[in-house]
Amino acid sequence: MNAVQQWVERAIGLVYPRNCLFCSTALVEQERGVICAACLSTVRRIEPPFCQQCASPFAGAVTESFVCGYCQNLRFAFARAVCGCRAEGIVRESIHRFKYNREMYLGPHLAEWLIEAARQWIDWQTVDVIVPVPLYPRKKREREFNQSEYLSTSLGKHFDRPVLAGQLHRVKDTITQTALDAEQRDRNLRKAFAVRRAGVFTGKRLVLVDDVFTTGATLNSCAKVLRRAGAYSVIALAVARGT
Ligand SMILES: [Zn+2]
Ligand SMILES: [Zn+2]
Repeated sequence: MNAVQQWVERAIGLVYPRNCLFCSTALVEQERGVICAACLSTVRRIEPPFCQQCASPFAGAVTESFVCGYCQNLRFAFARAVCGCRAEGIVRESIHRFKYNREMYLGPHLAEWLIEAARQWIDWQTVDVIVPVPLYPRKKREREFNQSEYLSTSLGKHFDRPVLAGQLHRVKDTITQTALDAEQRDRNLRKAFAVRRAGVFTGKRLVLVDDVFTTGATLNSCAKVLRRAGAYSVIALAVARGT
């Protein structure tokens, strides 16, 4: 190996960890990505029973489909929500590091969690278009990418469906919602989204993609605008379900 090759190897090593990001165990050849099998096994999938509206997992034996207490008094503009796993542990950290730290090598893991749920719970024969939740332009510039757009692209490739990004856009720079309750989130998001060209969503069956579903306020605001723009139906899809 010459000096240049060595340098390249080292540079790649820096960019692309050879050890598990979370427990530092050396990754073996078969382990694609940057998280080892042991750490991946700690991820808790959203499995039945979960709320048919908001995908909130329910502890206990419920055999029929049900709507959780949180949703009972709410009317979401999306028909139902589908989420990959619980927003905790390595899932939560992966999303955070991907979004705010630009650790792009985590992207395929997030996409995998998303795709697995999407395969299991969505009939793709009945989906026309994938729509990512947009970021406000300034935020996108700062972050250099939109995580939902990244996830939508992976999803679109996997299920062979077109991604329509940019038509639904964010017209208001909302404050970060982490510290807000459901009602405050709703207020914060009022008139935050709009559709650029009337007609592009008319009659379409959409899958709307975001990284995390917490109260559902963001996805709901988007779904409202999309339905008003004539969308036939909207399924909300997120990598993780926050609780
Ligand atoms: Zn590990
Ligand atoms: Zn619910």
